[in-house]
Amino acid sequence: MKKKTKLYTCKVCGEQFELLKENKYIGVESNGVSAAFNGTKYFDCFDCPKCGCQNFVNVRLAKKEK
Ligand SMILES: [Zn+2]
Repeated sequence: MKKKTKLYTCKVCGEQFELLKENKYIGVESNGVSAAFNGTKYFDCFDCPKCGCQNFVNVRLAKKEK
């Protein structure tokens, strides 16, 4: 079976790069007023290897505590 590599296109420079698990990190958005109403937002982020800009690929939802 051929393994298909998923490429992501950088929003800034258009470079295509692989989304590797080890390059992923969690970005946090917590700016004052909106954070107070909506809570803190987390994003799955990757930095483009070419231009270094941040690309967030997915909104990470908070886990509900039981
Ligand atoms: Zn880029």
